[in-house]
Amino acid sequence: MSIKSINPANGELMKSFEPLTKSQALAALENAHEAYGRWRHTSFSERKEVMMKFAGLLRERQEVLAKLITLEMGKRISESRYEIEFCAEIVEFYAKGAEEFLADHAMDVDGAKAYIQYTPLGVLVGVMPWNFPFYQVVRFIAPNLMAGNTALVRHAGIVPQCAAKIGDLLEECGLPDGVFTNLFIPHEFVDLLISHKHVRGASLTGSEAAGSSVAAVAGKNLKPSVLELGGNDPFIVLEDADLEKTVEMAIKGRMTNTGQSCVASKRMIVVEKVAEKFMEGLKQGMSSMKLGDPLDEDTDVGPLSSEEAAQRLEKQVNDTVNAGAKVVLGGGRPERKGAYFNPTILTDVTPEMPSYDQELFGPVATVYVVKDEQEAIELANDSSYGLGGSVYTSDPDRARRVAEAVDTGMMFVNQPTNSQADLPFGGIKNSGYGRELSKLGILEFVNKKLIHMG
Ligand code: NDP
Repeated sequence: MSIKSINPANGELMKSFEPLTKSQALAALENAHEAYGRWRHTSFSERKEVMMKFAGLLRERQEVLAKLITLEMGKRISESRYEIEFCAEIVEFYAKGAEEFLADHAMDVDGAKAYIQYTPLGVLVGVMPWNFPFYQVVRFIAPNLMAGNTALVRHAGIVPQCAAKIGDLLEECGLPDGVFTNLFIPHEFVDLLISHKHVRGASLTGSEAAGSSVAAVAGKNLKPSVLELGGNDPFIVLEDADLEKTVEMAIKGRMTNTGQSCVASKRMIVVEKVAEKFMEGLKQGMSSMKLGDPLDEDTDVGPLSSEEAAQRLEKQVNDTVNAGAKVVLGGGRPERKGAYFNPTILTDVTPEMPSYDQELFGPVATVYVVKDEQEAIELANDSSYGLGGSVYTSDPDRARRVAEAVDTGMMFVNQPTNSQADLPFGGIKNSGYGRELSKLGILEFVNKKLIHMG
């Protein structure tokens, strides 16, 4: 079956790509393995030169690339531009920092000399999602190519043009053939690649189901994996928060990328003293957001990434409302062409309802009212996920106390969870394992080799 690039704002088919056959996929793997044999011996400065060109090209072509993202998965154009700029920052961060991050670590062991050397592992397989079609791939390849590994990327089926473009840009920068390969392949081939002896690790960002499938194959074949899966981030509002700013952050945290972010602020947990005021502000802010063409600079809310995504979200919301939740705002899809969903606020969500513990990947906020800080922490921790979260208060001691008590991989104070090149990113529980970005991100797929000098 061909891989289709469809504009979610109007349902139009833009382009189709033919998937590779099994033998073509295996030939690409062989090529990546051969390339590894050479790439691993290149110096940091040689790798840096190519990757800095890549960062430069991302910036130079920002407008064209941003438009491609917007056309293919519906992200608002200003957010697409930001995604490209952020990619350039990540590429530069690793291009400049890799040599230091991976420098030998000397150890003095009972008078003897020893050191840890960080060496690449080989060919890695990356399975990437559509929600940030450039960023997700860059987050995977920027550290790993700088470490001397080579990468095969199986991008999400709905963003083939972005997938192909990343490969073209890297080729234009002079990256040797086989160091990065975009593969148009069905899921089953991913298993085949991961189990192949030449592949030394796998990284997936996506749903729990996809993560558990890839991790199972990697585990069975004794290969390391990094999983960045879903989240159901708590957004905890305490009574001493600056409410005006907090409401602003809630809208930003929930609505960025039309809510399709693993670290979106999905569960607003508000102490009762300020709940009414918070809700008033949230409702007012979200109801004034304008749905429209994501290429239009005035649009506040674009479409979801696909018709299937909109239908999936609609079912989750309907099932929750049918089970007794209240709709404070929105609750369904507008009467217009495209994969749109109205900004929605749900309350009275209880543990047996789907929206309580499932990831809602779209512009739907669930608001919970709790008695106090302790109850807020308990509710925040009553989740299968543990990716990010945030807490809003004017008291730094309380902020620290709450941030430390919530079981997630990342907690932010007075701002929603975000990612930055030099900050570690990742979660615990069903949100996955391993860390991306920062120095930690480049240490995932390297051999930390001990050399004892006797
Ligand atoms: P998926 O997890 O299915 O897609 C992510 C990537 O994994 C895609 O490349 C997909 O390919 C691939 N994939 C899916 N199943 C397998 C498998 N068994 N073996 C190998 N690769 C696989 O996400 P969806 O697009 O279906 O979205 C479903 C939900 O997942 C969302 O509503 C959201 O809750 C969550 N999600 C979370 C993301 C995050 O950033 N944490 C990102 C995307 C989704 P293909 O596109 O061909 O199916």
